[in-house]
Amino acid sequence: MTASIEDRSAEFRRQCRAAGLALTHQRETIFRAVLELGGHPSPEKIYARVKRQIPAISLATVYKNIHTFLDAGLLREVALHHGPLLLESNLEDHHHLVCVGCKSILDLEQEAVEPVSLRRRPPAGYRILRHQVVILGLCPGCARKKT
Ligand SMILES: [Zn+2]
Ligand SMILES: [Zn+2]
Repeated sequence: MTASIEDRSAEFRRQCRAAGLALTHQRETIFRAVLELGGHPSPEKIYARVKRQIPAISLATVYKNIHTFLDAGLLREVALHHGPLLLESNLEDHHHLVCVGCKSILDLEQEAVEPVSLRRRPPAGYRILRHQVVILGLCPGCARKKT
């Protein structure tokens, strides 16, 4: 069951208070923009949407707030290890189906993948936080082009 944007915004306000973050109209607008855009928006996309409601806002301010959200665990990045910064609008734990052609990313719900676990102990000193699976494939558009 996916929570509504209203539920998520209420949760966001609660988490801000818990994290000691000032809850500003600006911050709430940026957070909502991520949810409303859906998928995996870039900071530029988020900026373009927020700017319609707050014309005076700058891209740098949007970036700064996104990093504040990431640091506080209010938002997650799509990929931590490469590529440009993209945000998750889906705040549930989930996996990704990535098209190797156009690099589009589709969410797969947690239940779509068999539970994953490490067979061995993690390397010394590592603490595992969660498992995320990336499944590579071709989207319908790219699959058509290949044939
Ligand atoms: Zn594709
Ligand atoms: Zn995702």
